[in-house]
Amino acid sequence: MITMKFGGTSVGKTDAFAQVADIVAHAVATQSKTDRPGVVVITSAMSGVTNTLIDAAKAAAAGDEAPYREARSSLLVKHQLVAGQLIEDGVERAGLGRLFDDRLREFERLCRSISVLGELTARGLDVVSGMGERMSAPLLAGVLRAKGVHAQFVDAGELIITDDVHDGAEPLMDLTVARCRERLLPMIESGVVPVITGFVGSTRKGIPTTLGRGGSDYSAAIIGAALDTDEIQIWTDVNGVLTADPRVVSNARTLPELSYEEVAELAFYGAKVLHPKTTTPAMQKGIPVRVLNTFQPDHVGTRIVTADHTSGPRVAGVKAITAIRNMNMITVAGRGMMGVPGIAARTFGSVARQEANVLMISQSSSEQSICFVVPDAAAPAVVAALQAEFDRELERRYIDEIAEHPDIVIVAVVGSGMKGTPGIAAKLFTALGSHSINVIAIAQGASEANISLVVAEGDADQAVRSIHDAFELDQLFAGE
Ligand code: ADP
Ligand code: ASP
Ligand code: MG
Repeated sequence: MITMKFGGTSVGKTDAFAQVADIVAHAVATQSKTDRPGVVVITSAMSGVTNTLIDAAKAAAAGDEAPYREARSSLLVKHQLVAGQLIEDGVERAGLGRLFDDRLREFERLCRSISVLGELTARGLDVVSGMGERMSAPLLAGVLRAKGVHAQFVDAGELIITDDVHDGAEPLMDLTVARCRERLLPMIESGVVPVITGFVGSTRKGIPTTLGRGGSDYSAAIIGAALDTDEIQIWTDVNGVLTADPRVVSNARTLPELSYEEVAELAFYGAKVLHPKTTTPAMQKGIPVRVLNTFQPDHVGTRIVTADHTSGPRVAGVKAITAIRNMNMITVAGRGMMGVPGIAARTFGSVARQEANVLMISQSSSEQSICFVVPDAAAPAVVAALQAEFDRELERRYIDEIAEHPDIVIVAVVGSGMKGTPGIAAKLFTALGSHSINVIAIAQGASEANISLVVAEGDADQAVRSIHDAFELDQLFAGE
């Protein structure tokens, strides 16, 4: 039994839908010959749709009603065009047309209330942002039926039961597993392919939530783990996980095999190809994840497995480089901090109370400064909280300064083979030095699978490219 997730570009337009239908039909045919047949499909919204929905809702909150009106008609056309080109059956097409119209009417109604109230709540935004998947999944199910696959749309609001955190909800796994098995296994056993909305879930009370941007990958892993499928396939627009973002490094190469831990590091530090939480459910169940290219389906892509199950050649050293943008480095500095216990605890205690995500921490041994990196959006609240926390220390000048440094990027160099391989740091800094790139801060995890560097926004692309060159990652697996 396999789980197949298709991302936004994989369902971006008519040709892509047709391609996905071929891939699924082929998988269904192949699977039917196995001992445990079954295919489960999860889909993202058509590319650009989630952004359009969110932007329109935000504009409505600011009093601008034009974007949601335009979105309503453009999104109707976008979905109907695919249905019109790929589904011949008039009844099926009319049914889908009504469904799109209902969803978009609801979207317009919501945006109207947002505009009247002048306020967009996190809860309201989750309702709006999940509507893209609630159109693309029924559409894909229809396209698959037109191709002769017994597909049926299922809303993940019925399956993934989450906590009530909006835009980043966590599944309540016991409930979710029970719902997935109860609802999906009978369908699969009767030869039906469930086509499920990615990204969305709902609370125990039925209130819509989302798993956070890019969360359809996570949906696939949750559902795949709940059903104990033999593989979770993530179909996207590149040949698997590459040594760097191909938009930044044109000669980036596919990594044929990675461990869950390596992928988790890469995703956490900005490799958009997988949502950072994707590996967790898969790893717990030991289910292999494959990242494949919808537009080059014969390419082997990347296989993600437990570290000791890897079968490919061991890479001694660096495997991949990522960059995570829109970060802010906060420094707490002062000579009076030296030897004063509890400064770090109080610093991170107050950061935690702001619920800010800390991506990197570095403290020099002289204890004269602590620096850490948070997303730009969280920085003002974090600085204000620290200023309040260290009010007295600032007044007495034990702490001289609490400062923010916006527009910085974390570049992360990842590879489990870096552990115990000498000379990596030297090579890394030589590469950056030779391009006159200033390294603002450095951190290395105890696992030695990751070295993170802070550089200025303007240096980020060059930093990634020069590290990629220095470690000759374009030559990785070149002989195979
Ligand atoms: P989908 O819509 O299929 O979920 P995403 O746009 O979320 O696709 O993720 C795929 C994109 O991730 C690629 O097109 C690529 O530009 C980007 N990306 C960033 N880093 C990497 C990497 N290391 N390997 C592969 N792709 C990467
Ligand atoms: N459609 C959602 C987003 O754009 C989820 C996803 O694509 O994974 O964030
Ligand atoms: Mg994605």
